[in-house]
Amino acid sequence: MKLQNKVALVTGSSQGIGRGIAIRLAKEGADLVINGRHDDEQARETLEQVQALGHRVCFIAADVAEPANCYRLVEQAVEQMGRLDILVNNAGVQRHDAFLDVSEADYNQVLNVNLRGPFFLSQAFARHLRDTGRGGRIINNSSVHEELPFPNFSAYCSSKGGLKMLTRNLAIELAPLGITVNNVAPGAIETPINQTLMNEPEKLAGLLENIPAKRLGQPHDVAGAVAFLASDDADYVTGTTLVIDGGLLWNYSEQ
Ligand code: NAD
Repeated sequence: MKLQNKVALVTGSSQGIGRGIAIRLAKEGADLVINGRHDDEQARETLEQVQALGHRVCFIAADVAEPANCYRLVEQAVEQMGRLDILVNNAGVQRHDAFLDVSEADYNQVLNVNLRGPFFLSQAFARHLRDTGRGGRIINNSSVHEELPFPNFSAYCSSKGGLKMLTRNLAIELAPLGITVNNVAPGAIETPINQTLMNEPEKLAGLLENIPAKRLGQPHDVAGAVAFLASDDADYVTGTTLVIDGGLLWNYSEQ
């Protein structure tokens, strides 16, 4: 139990990797703030799974694409839980389109959720820690596509590349406040975001060919890395990316 007496906010934790992270942090002893856009069945399922582990938990609905919602989310989380120690910027969306066809609306949606959200959530969270004189942890869920080009996902790759630089910058600016800032970069993880891929056996087989571990990742693979970065064991780790991809990234780099 490495996170006892800590309170963690995990954005986009109603399903997928975010849910896996919330459950793992709770298993390590943390109290949890679950977030999603809506108070729906999935969000309640995450809430119940965390509650079953015996920890304090609340759900706060907020669309993190809007800075005003990011500020409100942090404010309400502190009101309801008394404090925050760990912020996991996990919420993310992707849109598939050839660069020549990307609409402004899709570009905005991807950049706003994946980059603007983490930017202003991190700001609100760091201000809270500064004002209370405590250190903390920011962990961003980036992607191997912060590094690896992905044709037809130009907005997604731009957002994740931006997140990588945001992480490095904040690691330097926030170190004096005792706040570490790191990325996890998952490869292909079996979650609802990849439903289309899961339904196309040929494409899936092609992808597995390129993953040295010969399997898709699971949310718990990512959650374990987040739990490490959130713990005291990672106190001297900041500004870095922990890649969780079964070897996919370096395999592509070899080609
Ligand atoms: P998912 O679609 O299963 O879950 C995304 C979560 O984000 C959901 O809970 C959704 O409600 C929430 N969300 C989306 N827009 C939001 C918004 N505007 N405000 C608040 N919450 C919002 O996807 P996932 O696979 O679990 O992805 C989670 C993160 O991991 C994303 O940032 C994604 O880019 C990243 N990632 C996923 C993979 C993968 O293969 N699944 C790989 C690399 C990186």
